[in-house]
Amino acid sequence: MDVFQHMEEALAGLHTAGNYRVFADLERHCSAFPKAAFHNADGTVRDVTVWCSNDYLGMGQNPLVTDRMIEVVRKCGAGAGGTRNISGTNHYHVLLERELADLHGKEGALIFTSGYVSNWAALGTLLAKIPGIICYSDSLNHASMIEGIRHSRCIKRQFRHNDYKHLRELMAADDPAAPKLVAFESVYSMDGDISPIKEICDVADQFGAMTYLDEVHAVGMYGPRGGGVAEREGLMDRLTVIEGTLGKAFGVMGGYITGPAVLVDFVRSFASGFIFTTAIPPALRQVPLRRSAI
Ligand code: PLP
Repeated sequence: MDVFQHMEEALAGLHTAGNYRVFADLERHCSAFPKAAFHNADGTVRDVTVWCSNDYLGMGQNPLVTDRMIEVVRKCGAGAGGTRNISGTNHYHVLLERELADLHGKEGALIFTSGYVSNWAALGTLLAKIPGIICYSDSLNHASMIEGIRHSRCIKRQFRHNDYKHLRELMAADDPAAPKLVAFESVYSMDGDISPIKEICDVADQFGAMTYLDEVHAVGMYGPRGGGVAEREGLMDRLTVIEGTLGKAFGVMGGYITGPAVLVDFVRSFASGFIFTTAIPPALRQVPLRRSAI
């Protein structure tokens, strides 16, 4: 087999289907949010307005964030200098994890290099290492959750999007003694709808299941302190794990989970996607986690 020819044919297939991706070559402008310069292939440049950014509030360009990041870079350097196990745990990571745990009212938090990695690593680890666990996943869950669930090779069930009655049917049909986890999101970015968190937690409680909520599109946006939809609805204590990103409304990058101390320690100790990778730059801690700080 000619592997390069295979790649060319696969790419040609994308072109034919109209699915080939071309990136917009953008240069964002501080203090002119959401404007950017668009670099054309011929070297010319034009101004554009970006309406599809995940930096929902422009916090990535807020001087409060950028000035504090520059301060930390000058103090500690640009990078973390190692994996978390091997000299890469900076005091700013420790402070950030404390703040995130506090934001979601949980005992502990763990930061990852992205929201994608946090879902993949946390779900992949929990579901692979708890014997006999069954995962119930919303049919519109993000690719990062699906990859984590798939990677774990656990027993899985898919419930219809936001359909807690279907979830109940699926759970009722399974072994009552099997450990269970329900994975879902609060804000589904592609459809723009919000899940019935309370009802899903009610069903999970009925069957003694853990709940794992992805609040990636909600943190920094909803709730009195930007803790997400679960905070807005007074439901944070109903969730076992609340997962989020620093890469969207918080304007920088990195992902995290928050939850019971033992669960966070378990993921910290067994997740290869956490252990074997360089820690995020300490300056990324400088996100305005509390709205009062803005
Ligand atoms: N979860 C959801 C629901 C998302 O939409 C995304 C990214 O768009 C992620 C997780 C991944 O987050 P990050 O961009 O921080 O990797």
